[in-house]
Order: sequence, then structure tokens, then C-alpha cells
Amino acid sequence: MTGLMDKLGLKPGVLYGDDVLNVSNYRNTVRILSSANKKQAFQVRPKCRLRSTRDQRHVIFNHHRLPRSSRDSRAPVILQLSQGGAAYFAGKGVSNENQKASIAGAIAAAHFIRSIAPVYGIPVVLHTDHCAKKLLPWLDGMMDADEAFFKEHGIPLFSSHMIDLSEESVEYNIETTSKYLARVSTWKQWIEMEIGITGGEEDGVNNEDVDNNSLYTQPEDIWQIYQTLSPISPYFSIAAGFGNVHGVYQPGNVKLQPDLLAKHQAFVANKLGSTEPKPVFLVFHGGSGSSVEEFQQAIGHGVVKVNLDTDLQWAYLVGIRDYVTKNIEYLSSQVGNPNGPDKPNKKFYDPRVWVREGEKTMSSRVKQAFEDFKAVNSL
Ligand SMILES: [Zn+2]
Repeated sequence: MTGLMDKLGLKPGVLYGDDVLNVSNYRNTVRILSSANKKQAFQVRPKCRLRSTRDQRHVIFNHHRLPRSSRDSRAPVILQLSQGGAAYFAGKGVSNENQKASIAGAIAAAHFIRSIAPVYGIPVVLHTDHCAKKLLPWLDGMMDADEAFFKEHGIPLFSSHMIDLSEESVEYNIETTSKYLARVSTWKQWIEMEIGITGGEEDGVNNEDVDNNSLYTQPEDIWQIYQTLSPISPYFSIAAGFGNVHGVYQPGNVKLQPDLLAKHQAFVANKLGSTEPKPVFLVFHGGSGSSVEEFQQAIGHGVVKVNLDTDLQWAYLVGIRDYVTKNIEYLSSQVGNPNGPDKPNKKFYDPRVWVREGEKTMSSRVKQAFEDFKAVNSL
């Protein structure tokens, strides 16, 4: 069976420009984002992105160590860094004054992913996530790096960036996003924007108390964005609020309503007089804790990226927690365990051993996501 790579002529490695557009158009790409741990393993801050054009979905993974699960599942992945994840990649001891660590960390991660992705044999979309107004200097720094890289190599460093001005006025959000999209259209870079607020807490941004009405984006807003951005560039997607929440909580008042996404698509298609039923690339933030049905409904309504972070953080811990619990008698001192007072414990406390246990459990969780998104064997 011919897969995505043959059909679209993709090479393993980081994708740019029209390749990103083509994958997004190839119905239902799922992206999982991850934040970075700088040394051995890449932790995952997954967010998934799905886009539909056919009946297949592809998972894109955002992670440090390019997830083995993506390779083994034969699915493409989106690797993404948040501003906090980028600073973490640089090292928590580095000052982040003027976003210095976040800029340097994101650039370092981009170079790492660019060089390692081909080894895994999978296509990767390299993205940065959630840039709020106060973090725009971070975005500016990364785009300066994109521009310099483009001058030298004819492609930007990152496949795409997200601007999140959802807490500002709609007018400011759209106008500012337009300016950034215009800047990066030169090098065919993708921009994801957010309208409507994702509830919950992530990466220090706390929206747990936000008014519920702000959690549901209206179709008119989507149309206004589409109308403004599409003449500038086709490379953009919209993270619309449909009751999404970052993190996993007890069920509360906010209910996920994927059907709202169908309304957005119908509204825009109608305005355009288009026969394309899903003209808008949509993004699903806060995927953790959602049901398979909710994912598949959203994907069916033109979601091309799903963010799945909290569940992967948890999965990463589980393997390490269980390893430590099970081997506690081998981890209480460097020498001496139940086999004898002089027995060394080095092979138990080597970080490559116990971090690896977290990678395995996280990898299994990612595989499950690829299955939930029907992305397995899509390459
Ligand atoms: Zn998000």
C-alpha cells in the first residue's frame, strides 16, 4: 500500500512550506507536542494536530527524543516546544532575561531535531507553541533565526510557530497575527493562532477561572480570521475554543463540544460559496483526558493537530515511578543491596536505565494516541 510519503513525495526529516500544507491537507494529521528534557531523553509535551483530507490521520509528535513510537507506528509527528520547554532545553540554570534561554533553547532543539529526524525515517513538523503577548520577544528571536537560516539554506529553521493572543481583543489578535503571518510568508512558514481561550493551566498560564463563554469560539470569529489571513498566506491554522481545557480534571461545567467545529467549517464554506466542506485547518488544544469519540469527531471536523501533553507527562512518570518503587533497595545507596553489603548498584541508578523506563511508558501512551487518531501505518 502506498503511504503518505510516496504519495506526497516526502523525505524523512523536518518538513517545511508546501510539504506541511500537503500533509495537513492529507486528511487528518495528528500532532503530539512535547517539551524537552535536555540530556538523554526528550520528554513529551504532546499536542496533536489533525487535518483531514482523506480518511487517514497521521500523528505528529512533539518530543525530544523523536518518539520511537512514531517510527514504529509508521506515522508522521509534530514535535513542538513551549516557551518554558525551550528554556528547559537550554537548561534551567540559564537566565531567561529577555527570553534569552527560550530563544537559544528552541534554536538548539530545532537543530537537534533537524539532524536526528532523518535517522528515525519519519517526517516531522517542527513547531513552537502558545506564544502569548508578553512572550512575543521569544517569537521575534526565533523568527530572526528563521530568517537567517532561510537566507543561507532557502528554508526556515522551524516548520511553524503558534501565536496565542486569545486573551487580547479579537481585533488586536487578528491584526498582530496578520503582521507575523506576512513576515513569515516569505519563507512559507506556518502560523497557528488561537481564538477563544483554552481553560485549565499549562506552562504557568492559568485559565482555570476564565468565564465559560470565552471557552467557546463563535463561527463569526473564525470567518473574520479566515477572511483576513487567507489573502496573506495559505499556511495557517486556527485553535478555536470548543470547551478545551489544558490538564486533566474531574468532570466539571465545561463540556467539550466538537460539533462546534463543524459549525465553523459550514459557516466559512457557506461564506466562501465553497464546495470544500472543511476549508479551515483547525487545532485541538488540551487533548488529554478526552475520549476516543471526541478525538475522532474533532478530526472528522477538520482538526489537523491535536495537543496531548498532560497524559504524556503522566505516562512518562509512571515508568520511572514504578522502577524506583520496585528497585528501592537497590537505589538507597551506591553500594549494598539485598544480594550483599558490598554489591554495587551502579547499573540500577544509571539515568539511562531509569529514564528509559519513563520513555517506554510514554512511548506506549503515544502509540495508543496514534491508534485513537487512526494514524498508524499512514507513512
Ligand atoms: Zn494549548
